[in-house]
Amino acid sequence: MITLAALPPQVALPDGRKLPFANLDYAATAPVARVALDAVEDLLPWYGSVHRGAGALSQKTSLAYERSRQTIGDFLGTRPDDEVVFTRNTTDAMNLLAHALPPGTLTVTFLGEHHAGLLPWPSVHRLPIPASPASAVASLADALRAIRARDGAARPLLVAVTAASNVTGEVWPIAELVEQAHRFGARVAVDAAQLAPHRPVDLSSWDADYVAVSGHKLYAPFGCGVLAGRADWLDQAPPYLAGGGATSGVADDAATVTWTDGPARHEAGTPNVFGAVALGAVCAALTSCDRVGWQDHEARLSTRLERRLARIPGVAVLRSFPSGSDRVGIVSFAVSGHDSGDLATWLSVEHGIGVREGLFCAHPFSRHLLSEAGRRTGLPMPATALRASVGAGTTTDDVDRLVEAVAKAA
Ligand code: PMP
Repeated sequence: MITLAALPPQVALPDGRKLPFANLDYAATAPVARVALDAVEDLLPWYGSVHRGAGALSQKTSLAYERSRQTIGDFLGTRPDDEVVFTRNTTDAMNLLAHALPPGTLTVTFLGEHHAGLLPWPSVHRLPIPASPASAVASLADALRAIRARDGAARPLLVAVTAASNVTGEVWPIAELVEQAHRFGARVAVDAAQLAPHRPVDLSSWDADYVAVSGHKLYAPFGCGVLAGRADWLDQAPPYLAGGGATSGVADDAATVTWTDGPARHEAGTPNVFGAVALGAVCAALTSCDRVGWQDHEARLSTRLERRLARIPGVAVLRSFPSGSDRVGIVSFAVSGHDSGDLATWLSVEHGIGVREGLFCAHPFSRHLLSEAGRRTGLPMPATALRASVGAGTTTDDVDRLVEAVAKAA
């Protein structure tokens, strides 16, 4: 299990008790790991710009930056020909890929995606929200067959899917989706923002083409993410940002520019070296820690949370796939008759519990789940939901405090 750099502060509750703030919002941003902080502290004396100078500071910083790229690539299961491009976060990574698509590419995605996977595509076909992993695979195959029949074999196709939903935590059948996509000559981009903190991400064993992650959900600081995958589209695309570092030559009149290949093509400007080094340190730690033991621990916490919440009258747990389907430590729910925003504030102020409230940057999906929950329970549902998510610092006590407080409210 990864060790956090700091635990949440104690909060004084209205009844006089002092308790650690129960942070159940890991899916939004995870606290920073000790190894990330240590890596930044180790590099601080060497604060210098990458790839820019011959001096020792620049050399050392450049080496640390490139080593991190390698470590993160290994963590994501990249193949020797893959490229690992540093971005600001998953949203930035998906937008970079959208920018790099060959002209005329059609992207196929599901309406259940996070907005980062739903919105960036210049030309997009959106599939309905599937009711099971198997129906996701079937619906993708049907759609790709119809698109090929209509548009012919030459049209570049990209399938963009999430590996684990940020609303339900449900794990998507990535290898099966990739198999179908490849049958029809489509590439696959996997949004692993929510899977990576909980489960191994493996481009090679999935046989997927691209993967995107965010450092701040992976126990590293804000501001560093990655797009990793096939080099050809990335190397043929115009640079994502035009500027220093992305060019190998600019003519005297600046009218002729030679852009570099490789990740530097899309990383113009001075990069976030500390973010990259911190993320590299976390990836190295996650690669060597007991992820199976950790996975079991998180599964116990989230199963306990889901079961206990579901037993409270008036509470509906949001799910898209059948109950019992594989899922990471995220549980979204709504309490009939209660505004979720008010409830989230009350949980924070009166109980010292932090959860997320809203539609979770997945508006069509969250609204669909709320309306399904209303149909299933026969109860009126609020307009938005609450989301509790667990991670490295979560205790059984945190989970039980949330359940008790929700029971009181309901
Ligand atoms: N995809 C998923 C599944 C997410 O949960 C998130 C963050 N909520 C994102 C993409 C976007 O991540 P970021 O805000 O770090 O760009």
